[in-house]
Amino acid sequence: MNHEEFADNHFIRTIIEDDLKNGKYQSIITRFPPEPNGYLHIGHAKSICLNFGLAHIYNGQCNLRFDDTNPEKESDEYVRSIMEDVQWLGFKWAGEPHYASDYFEQLYQYAEHLIEQGLAYVDELNADEMREYRGTLTEAGKESPYRNRTVTENLDLFRRMRAGEFEDGSKTLRLKIDMASGNLNMRDPVIYRIRRVHHHRTGDQWCIYPMYDYTHCLSDAIEHITHSICTLEFEAHRPLYDWVIEHVDSPSTPHQYEFSRLELLYSITSKRKLNQLVQQQYVSGWDDPRMPTISGMRRRGYTPAGLRLFAKRVGVSKSENVVDMDVLEGAIREDLEHTAPRMMAVLRPLKVEITNFDESKIQGKTAAYHPEKPEFGERELKLAPTIYIEADDFAIDPPKGWKRLVAGGEVRLRHSYVMKCEEVVQDSNGNITALKCSIDYDTLGKNPEDRKVKGVIHWLPENTAVKAQVRLYDRLFTEPRPDAVRGEDGEYRDFIEFLNPESQTVITAFVEPIAQTLQPESHWQFERLGYFVTDRFDHKENAIVFNHTVTLRDTWKKK
Ligand code: ATP
Ligand code: MG
Repeated sequence: MNHEEFADNHFIRTIIEDDLKNGKYQSIITRFPPEPNGYLHIGHAKSICLNFGLAHIYNGQCNLRFDDTNPEKESDEYVRSIMEDVQWLGFKWAGEPHYASDYFEQLYQYAEHLIEQGLAYVDELNADEMREYRGTLTEAGKESPYRNRTVTENLDLFRRMRAGEFEDGSKTLRLKIDMASGNLNMRDPVIYRIRRVHHHRTGDQWCIYPMYDYTHCLSDAIEHITHSICTLEFEAHRPLYDWVIEHVDSPSTPHQYEFSRLELLYSITSKRKLNQLVQQQYVSGWDDPRMPTISGMRRRGYTPAGLRLFAKRVGVSKSENVVDMDVLEGAIREDLEHTAPRMMAVLRPLKVEITNFDESKIQGKTAAYHPEKPEFGERELKLAPTIYIEADDFAIDPPKGWKRLVAGGEVRLRHSYVMKCEEVVQDSNGNITALKCSIDYDTLGKNPEDRKVKGVIHWLPENTAVKAQVRLYDRLFTEPRPDAVRGEDGEYRDFIEFLNPESQTVITAFVEPIAQTLQPESHWQFERLGYFVTDRFDHKENAIVFNHTVTLRDTWKKK
């Protein structure tokens, strides 16, 4: 990876460059802090490229830290998938992965220290009361009647919370900041709650768990993170971030910077909603090729370099980052154009019998698997008495400007002869079942002298073509912003309503024999059709499975 691969000229790079120039830091440490409550999606890919990219560009380091403070939703499966996705994207975290749960004891000690300074108290308001006391944006909150307990009483209660003496939800530990603050996050935020839930790493060791706002800044401080980069919704949490760091004996003083989150049209970037698609089986799993998850996109045939190029192109800023699908597809296509070898495949076959086939006169032609990459090798393509062409490449009533085959017309077979349609074979219902065509033996590698043949179509010899399952994909949703559509009553409609019922079509197609030798996750262009990849899990030597990655040109807008 080189530096040019990452988003440039953005405000976070300017800040870092200044910090390094001024000697505020000798080197930088960033982190990518996912909560292991789902698989990573395209929005996370942006954040990964940003955080790991900055560390790469400025010779710093980037930590992977699991922000695992909500045990009921988290699991090892998610931890494993996140590590796999980050590595697959091409990044390496510094040292071992970190876990916020590794710091639970230290966070607890900081909390006791805050209590000792009179800066935290044990509260007994229930959730409803808490909300009521909190006030609104225009109205100051009210102080809890438990706010003025003594330090001794608070320490005793907090220790007993930890020891498991109280019921779930019956008490919380809150910071004592300011119930009248204009920033709601500063109105005595809860930093610990009692919850008897098994944690995927700490087991049943804890029955109190720290809250995100308290955990995150201190985890950053413990890891000596210099630039803590998050999405804009956390801007209003920054004063709290700074408050906590300032009031504990913090090992370092990290700073938080916010950028706008990526939103991809016709897609969804919320783990909770993606989880719903999986749980309710609208898709086959988190890695269904239609999913905007990293593992789904991988299975679809998207490439790490293509995704990194996408992240560079969407950039980093504080203004809205709503991006069309064609930006993503364009980046993937651009990578595959130079890296994927090409073969011919026929998705919807129409049989063609060559009426003047003469074995002694037929010549094969070698064709490279990629026009610019001789290292990809070549193969011989040789006509057979029967071939397959794409049903779409023949029309009885062609539209204007049609360059492909018609009855009585001619086309060139790619890497082979010019062929003329002599006869259309139809069944009693008028369906075209086959064509009978003749070839012009004088056209291999050269144009006929007396006439122009414009069209070139792909084809496969029947005797060597191999069957393959091909999975074609369309957009998963029919609405550009499926989770932001309001009904007549003004309420948001359920995004499930906007699932595209035709987002997947499975067909049996024909491909070249080389497909039998391919490993899973081999990227190929099917000439004239698009980019395809052998399925990561289902493709086998004797059961070829290709997934459609992306079209050859941008067809997205025309749909
Ligand atoms: P989700 O709403 O999907 O659960 P999240 O922000 O809760 O997203 P985290 O696991 O906390 O998910 O995210 C890890 C990191 O990825 C955070 O730093 C977060 O800011 C960043 N991130 C998440 N979603 C996006 C997005 N759409 N665009 C850019 N960065 C994102
Ligand atoms: Mg989050």
